Amino acid sequence: MNDRYNKVLQYNFSGIGCWLTIIALAMLLSAVGLGWIVNGFLILFLLILFTPVIAFFGLQWWLRRNFIQDNCPVCSYEFTGLKNSQFQCPNCGEPLQVEVGKFTRITPPGTIDVEAVDVQVQVSDSADEG
Ligand SMILES: [Zn+2]
Repeated sequence: MNDRYNKVLQYNFSGIGCWLTIIALAMLLSAVGLGWIVNGFLILFLLILFTPVIAFFGLQWWLRRNFIQDNCPVCSYEFTGLKNSQFQCPNCGEPLQVEVGKFTRITPPGTIDVEAVDVQVQVSDSADEG
C-alpha cells in the first residue's frame, strides 16, 4: 500500500513538474521577447480596430473645423462653406468668404452701385437720342 502511494505521488509530481516546466518556459519566452511580439500583435490589432473610428471622428472634427454653416448675407440662403477659401452662394451666386465663423461678401457693398450708375447712363443716353 505504501509502495502504491509512493507511485501515485511520483506521478503527480512529474505531472506538476511538466506544467511547471511549461509555465517557466512561457515566462522565460515572455521575458526574453515573446511578450513584445504578443504586445506588438495586440497593438496592431487594436490599431486596425480603432483606426476607422479615429479616422471617422478625426474627419468629423476636421469638417467642423474647416466647414462653416451660415446664412448668405445677401439672400439668407443657409449652406455650408469651406473655411479659408472663397466660394459662391449656391442660391444667388454672390461671391463670399468666411470671416470669424460668418459668411461675408468679398465685394464691398459700394461696388453694387456701379451697375446702377451704368443703367442711369444708358437711360440718359437713350433720353439724349430721343
Ligand atoms: Zn445668396
